Amino acid sequence: MSSVKNKAVIVTGGSKGIGKGIASVFAKQGAKVMVAARGEAAAKETVEEIVQAGGIAEYFLCDVSNWDSVQKLIAHTSKTFGAVDILCANAGTFPQKKIVDLTPDDWDDIMAANLKSTFLCVKACIPEFEKAGKGRVVLTSSITGPITGYPGWAHYGATKAGQLGFMRTAAMELAPYNTTINAVMPGNIYTEGLASLGEEYLNSMAAAIPLKRLGATEDIANAALFFASDEAAYITGQQIVVDGGQTLPESMDAIAEM
Ligand code: NAP
Repeated sequence: MSSVKNKAVIVTGGSKGIGKGIASVFAKQGAKVMVAARGEAAAKETVEEIVQAGGIAEYFLCDVSNWDSVQKLIAHTSKTFGAVDILCANAGTFPQKKIVDLTPDDWDDIMAANLKSTFLCVKACIPEFEKAGKGRVVLTSSITGPITGYPGWAHYGATKAGQLGFMRTAAMELAPYNTTINAVMPGNIYTEGLASLGEEYLNSMAAAIPLKRLGATEDIANAALFFASDEAAYITGQQIVVDGGQTLPESMDAIAEM
């Protein structure tokens, strides 16, 4: 999967967690990585780490829920690296709140951060893909929403399932630009965001996973790398679950019998 060498890649949410893993893995393969996030400190630190390891990376401060901000990100990347070959639309938030407490504003906020952002980033990249005659989009969805449920994440799950609904038609509309779009569906991946949910949550999750560990950010990054590679040229509109088998057990007894 060395075909991403010298390709210009945007990783939204590339400053932390899964996005940082994606940015690092692509940089190790020789890609030119644009890390996009709102906070400067983490973005700068991630870029410094990648550069110190011998990779090529820059950062751009961007709010992916804002159209003007997203357009500036794409224009800046194209100017800096000469193209936008690959978009990893990964940025997202997962505040936990049950429906009974959820406000209409909470709903709108997560739709904007996780779902509208997917549409905005893909739309803004189309002229770049058209110019290059090819392109790749990799979405970070989730098992939560498309496959599973968890109290407090109805709004979040709706955004993650929504990304897949968007993807299937986008795959058809991007095909004339020789561009593919696919999604990685992570299970529970150890990140700063997930760590903030507390040790009890992390331990109970690890116990419910057949491979008995939370995922590493590289586990997701490697799947994203595959979708972005030449080897995956004929795959579009598809999703892959990367969850250590978490969605397989039929019941808690099934796990206990392992
Ligand atoms: P994280 O550690 O909290 O990192 C989130 C990243 O997104 C940060 O770089 C953050 O930077 C950026 N971000 C958030 N809102 C943004 C916005 N409006 N504009 C630009 N950047 C924004 O989260 P993570 O766990 O890596 O999650 C990354 C993605 O994986 C999300 O889409 C999430 O739904 C998905 N996912 C995660 C897991 C998991 O177990 N961790 C499981 C399934 C799916 P700033 O805050 O500085 O902007």
